[in-house]
Amino acid sequence: MERFYVTTPIYYINAEPHLGHTYTMVVADTLARFYRAKGVETFVVTGTDEHGDKIAAIAAAHGENPKLYADRMSPLFQQAWQECGFLVDQFVRTTDPRHEQLVQEFLQRVYDNGDIYFSRYAGLYCTGCERFLTEKELVGGNCPDHKRPPEPIEEENYFFRMTRYLPAVQQYFEAHPDAIYPEHYRNEVLAMLASGGIGDLCISRPKTRLDWGIELPFDRRYVCYVWFDALISYVSGLKMRGDDTFHAFWPTAHHVMAKDILKPHAIFWPSMLLALRLPLFRRLLIHGYWVRGEAKMSKSLGNVIRPLDMKQQFGIDTLRYFLLREMAFGQDASFNEDAFAARANADLANGLGNLASRVLSMQQRYFDGQVQPLDPPTAADDDLQGAFAQALVEVPEWTEQLAFHRALEALWRALDHANKYVVDTAPFTLARERQQLPRVGGILHRLLECLYTTATLLAWFLPETSQKIFSLLGVTAPVRLPTSLGWGEHFPIGHRVQPPITLFPRIDLQKEATPRA
Ligand SMILES: [Zn+2]
Repeated sequence: MERFYVTTPIYYINAEPHLGHTYTMVVADTLARFYRAKGVETFVVTGTDEHGDKIAAIAAAHGENPKLYADRMSPLFQQAWQECGFLVDQFVRTTDPRHEQLVQEFLQRVYDNGDIYFSRYAGLYCTGCERFLTEKELVGGNCPDHKRPPEPIEEENYFFRMTRYLPAVQQYFEAHPDAIYPEHYRNEVLAMLASGGIGDLCISRPKTRLDWGIELPFDRRYVCYVWFDALISYVSGLKMRGDDTFHAFWPTAHHVMAKDILKPHAIFWPSMLLALRLPLFRRLLIHGYWVRGEAKMSKSLGNVIRPLDMKQQFGIDTLRYFLLREMAFGQDASFNEDAFAARANADLANGLGNLASRVLSMQQRYFDGQVQPLDPPTAADDDLQGAFAQALVEVPEWTEQLAFHRALEALWRALDHANKYVVDTAPFTLARERQQLPRVGGILHRLLECLYTTATLLAWFLPETSQKIFSLLGVTAPVRLPTSLGWGEHFPIGHRVQPPITLFPRIDLQKEATPRA
């Protein structure tokens, strides 16, 4: 049995779900649905990261106990993803006792192997990053991410002997060129490793400074550093379903994330896995940022887009389409309402929605919804079929390569062809003459097949729309992604299809309140 395990980062609960989180979820969901369509068994893990300085500080600012704060925030993520219809097999909360227990077990194992030592440390600590920064990392004396100077702190802490594993990590990424995608992030990681600037990792925080975390099993005066805790969720999420699930899925792990957390995933995590004597993940899939104007979307900038607002206003598939069509995976992309409306109107309302509506209404008008036999094909019929045969090859290929925008482009080329075919063959004109009705029936039958193939290829991109099209056609979706079109085999002669519905209402921004938090 082929398997595919995909994770998103467990999200930090210092803010509500926003567009960046949603994009990562859409990518994980799209991949899981794609591999499912190919008959692969899939498992999806996401969750919430609930420990650390920042959470303790925010909870304190709300006058709340951190656990109560986490209990209030975590469900916002769980519910949002459920309402968006994303596939999630296991949602991990880092305050779940099953997760905490595994983290302690892993800490103990690394400690017993001699890879954790105790040492006095004086360093520059950034509370934003929740870690010590090296002098080299500072820009003008400031943390490059938080734009403020780190605090000098001197304390005794536990350190993970990460340097012992860095050569093996480097070898792994050298031997597996596709283990980090896109490739320039792999080059970035290899450069980081080659620089020799990475030291051992401080993995403890004294409770005198912070007590909101998982206690070190070998020293109760300390709690665990958040990253060491959070990364283990990728294992605990599987183990919560039993060791068999872990053994079955772990070797196929694909971690999807935004580029800002590449280092913990590409340096800390493989070192930890090696120290735990566990196999390494299969791939890290790194995406860019959604920007508005020039700025990254973030709560502090007040330019956040809430996924549930978007869903309510435009439908989840319209949002999915925009995110997948507009961002080349790995690069930044910009979000603005005008581009969103233009894309949705041109491709969804006009391109796909209009085709479905024309075909189904003609089928009603001329044949009472009943499918007619295919007539001998013309050159135009062959071209149409060729366009969809090409889409059937290209769309899965581009999806496999994470080029979702190219996959959708390829499908829409076929849809454009179908819309042009309607104009060129003009069934609405032919239908005026009774003796032409068999030809009209043949044209419409082919167009129903276009919709069938489209729904098949949209199953992982726009699952709701795919289902709607299949139910309009009155047929069930294929169990497996077919390797050939099979046109002429999906509709028995006389089978009745449904009258059209509006799949995608046109978006008029003058009338809509702009979707803004
Ligand atoms: Zn910082």
